[in-house]
Amino acid sequence: MRSYDVIVAGAGASGMMAAISAARRGARTALLEHMDQAGKKLLSTGNGKCNFTNQVQGMEYYRGLDPAFVLPVFAQFGVADTLDFFRDIGVWWKEKRGGSIYPANEQSSTVREGLLLELARLGVELFCGIGIRSIQKRQGRFLFDTKQGEFSSSCCVLATGGKAAKKTGSDGSGIPYVVGFCHPVSDFVPALVQLQGKQSFLKELAGIRAQGRVSVYVNGTKTAEDVGELQLTEFGVSGIPAFQVSRYCTTALARGEKVSASLDFMPDTSEDALLEDFYRQRKRTPEREAVQWLSGIVNRKLSPVLLKQAGLSPGRPLGEISRKQLLRLTGQIKGLLVDIIGSKSFDGAQVCAGGVLTEKISPKTMESRLVEGLYFAGELVDIDGMCGGYNLQWAFSSGWVAGLHSADASRGRGRSPQKPEMHRKSQGGTP
Ligand SMILES: Cc1cc2nc3c(=O)[nH]c(=O)nc-3n(C[C@H](O)[C@H](O)[C@H](O)COP(=O)(O)OP(=O)(O)OC[C@H]3O[C@@H](n4cnc5c(N)ncnc54)[C@H](O)[C@@H]3O)c2cc1C
Repeated sequence: MRSYDVIVAGAGASGMMAAISAARRGARTALLEHMDQAGKKLLSTGNGKCNFTNQVQGMEYYRGLDPAFVLPVFAQFGVADTLDFFRDIGVWWKEKRGGSIYPANEQSSTVREGLLLELARLGVELFCGIGIRSIQKRQGRFLFDTKQGEFSSSCCVLATGGKAAKKTGSDGSGIPYVVGFCHPVSDFVPALVQLQGKQSFLKELAGIRAQGRVSVYVNGTKTAEDVGELQLTEFGVSGIPAFQVSRYCTTALARGEKVSASLDFMPDTSEDALLEDFYRQRKRTPEREAVQWLSGIVNRKLSPVLLKQAGLSPGRPLGEISRKQLLRLTGQIKGLLVDIIGSKSFDGAQVCAGGVLTEKISPKTMESRLVEGLYFAGELVDIDGMCGGYNLQWAFSSGWVAGLHSADASRGRGRSPQKPEMHRKSQGGTP
């Protein structure tokens, strides 16, 4: 049986970081990955460019049953620490729009390689294609039964990710380990994902990219909103704003609630300003057709659909439109309603909402409150971030904290102390 201080299950962003921080702290560390290579998902992040963190931070960029859970974690390893860390291992970075940080060469492989080289430098033993059959705790030690034999450790970090993008390795197969330790888990649902709409008019709108605001209503109550470039597809609503609000839709749908999205195609213009323009144009050219007025305002493909939804024919002259009809039309421009009935599957999602409930994890150490020596990191935990580098930041921060404290705890469990390699801390740790 191979014996370690810390064993990390899952060699994604969070697991690699956990193994690095544990090893830097002097722990004899193994990293177990069921795919044939580590960090596969990292390669596809940020369209191959890897948006690995964001200078603009705050609790509001993170979601879950208790988003405040991230704060003590980031206080120990925040954005500044992450940027320092990557420069330290030879990954230069640059800031782009909205505070997003990418590797300087905009190649995600650089981030993955940097982490792999650091793991190797620290002597972390990486086992790929591992096939973990079970993880149990017996007589104070974690026992891993795998296709490559038995492993044991003083501490265990579970970092097996969620279910998004299964081909990269995160297939939910880590959940049985968590459940085996009687830890409460909420079901994963896709997040940062395209939303499925019910209305048949979506077919006519497919291909439209337009600046807009999407507001999500759950059982009639406004729950979330975002602004940016909306993309309308035959399937439904996509684009960054739809991604940002998607987790509120998928979690509500999973609870059996009614979800709708209101699309505002003139987010910076008030309804009064639209009315004023209508009356001005009607005075100038009362014979002008409704569709012509509308096409001066929104994407041409939208006009017939908005008119139909308002109960108006496209050729209706402005002079013949009543105030009631006009209000219905401006109402459509500012709030085309789409019933949301689903989303793309986990394979089409960037992350998952749900996972190990944070109420049973200490945010100071990422250690289980139920099982001593058991730690969690990354997307496996019930925290999901917005688009923009927040998910990788969570993976790195939670991984770092779990690795550090598991290494310290393993020292308290009979391991002879070694000189730890400290992380160089720069500015404050808070994101
Ligand atoms: C297409 C795409 C683009 C993205 N772009 C960005 C971006 O630009 N910025 C950003 O912040 N986030 C992005 N994300 C999200 C981000 O990649 C994830 O949130 C992050 O990788 C989660 O890290 P993790 O280590 O928790 O999980 P993962 O990266 O999923 O890693 C989990 C690891 O555990 C392994 N594993 C799973 N089960 C087992 C098991 N039973 N035994 C052993 N090993 C197991 C998996 O193979 C995998 O290697 C993107 C995601 C996708 C899919």
